[in-house]
Amino acid sequence: MPRPKPKRAALAPPADGLRIGVLALQGDIDEHVAALQECKAHGVRVKTAAELEQVDGLIIPGGESTAVGTLLDRFQIAGPLRERAHLGMPVWGTCMGMIVMADKVTGSKQPTLGLLHIEVKRNAFGRQIESAEEALEIEGLEGKPFPGVFIRSPWIESVWGGAHILAYVEGKGVMVWQKNLLGTSFHPELTDDLRIHRYFLQMAAAAKH
Ligand code: GLN
Repeated sequence: MPRPKPKRAALAPPADGLRIGVLALQGDIDEHVAALQECKAHGVRVKTAAELEQVDGLIIPGGESTAVGTLLDRFQIAGPLRERAHLGMPVWGTCMGMIVMADKVTGSKQPTLGLLHIEVKRNAFGRQIESAEEALEIEGLEGKPFPGVFIRSPWIESVWGGAHILAYVEGKGVMVWQKNLLGTSFHPELTDDLRIHRYFLQMAAAAKH
């Protein structure tokens, strides 16, 4: 009797193929999941080390960095996340996410992952940019300026050891890239401009192959 042929769907990966986690401890999680789905990637919520193992990249959303820094330890995900990032998994932090990824937070001893070689200052912009949209020129990003949505955002005080600033507001760094890591002071998930999500997906695709 001839063996049944394997189904094609089981052989071919889905068109996108990429599973991107959004750290789902606290913050604006759903907006990132929606942006990822719109880019035709699988956006999945990640709360545990087991869920982290299943993804090709991770986004740490905006929220409250002191809360998430503590929850990362309590959910025992800080260690596995550091390990995967060191092994090359792309990680992108938006606003609070960038604070949580930083080596150093100005004037604070709050726990962080210590991935990005940057010092960040929380709630750094004065009143007029406390909650505002700024047209950003981002190094390497083609087309019109990017709509940077800032909500009680940090800025980057200093960088070292391979971290490179890609965008500035008022002379302060608001976007940083370091090998497989990305940080933005602003919130691309709150706009309909998907260029930075697409850029991150390219990083994840490159890391996977
Ligand atoms: N102000 C927040 C913090 O310092 C970050 C704000 C945000 O993620 N929108 O944790």
